[in-house]
Amino acid sequence: MTKPVGLLTLQGDYEKHRQIFTSLGVETMGVRRPAELDQVSGLVIPGGESTTLTRLMDRVQLRQPLLDFAVDHPVMGTCAGLIMMSHTLADENFKDYGVAPLGMLDCTVLRNGYGRQIDSFTAPVGIDVLDGSSEEFAAVFIRAPRIVDVGPKADVVAAYKGEPVAVRQGHLLGMTFHPELTDDSRIHRAFLSMI
Ligand code: GLN
Repeated sequence: MTKPVGLLTLQGDYEKHRQIFTSLGVETMGVRRPAELDQVSGLVIPGGESTTLTRLMDRVQLRQPLLDFAVDHPVMGTCAGLIMMSHTLADENFKDYGVAPLGMLDCTVLRNGYGRQIDSFTAPVGIDVLDGSSEEFAAVFIRAPRIVDVGPKADVVAAYKGEPVAVRQGHLLGMTFHPELTDDSRIHRAFLSMI
């Protein structure tokens, strides 16, 4: 791998992703401008706030460059990052509160789908993308979206209580939880193997 892995550094917990890649000996680079996409091998869209990510992404005119990048580069979205990658939102009012997903990953998500009363929880999930590892992943869900529909182009690669919590579409990977908030780097390593 010659180019660093890109982290969308507009907003959110990209620093935690950086720490995991650093611990794996992998160089990262922040991406805030379209031209910076030319310098990275893949991109992580971190958790944060999808309303803010939408606003900032459009302000710096990254929307179309990100879609072009995702055609032939791996992209991983976690939590709000998955919301941004998704095709559409289940909540009909989403345009009113200013979330505009990129539409690159064939799934429909519901923001804050686990309700406010359980804003945050950790649960073990089995994840197929890890190729052969049978150990479950301790997934951290923080005001997590729910994946309410998965289209024909995407595959479910992790489930919690029978519901999808991670989907993969070729080199695109999105999950409702935060793999960067654990010491377990298997998901980041699986993402690196796509590069
Ligand atoms: N609820 C947030 C949103 O809608 C996502 C939360 C997160 O990324 N931890 O964007």
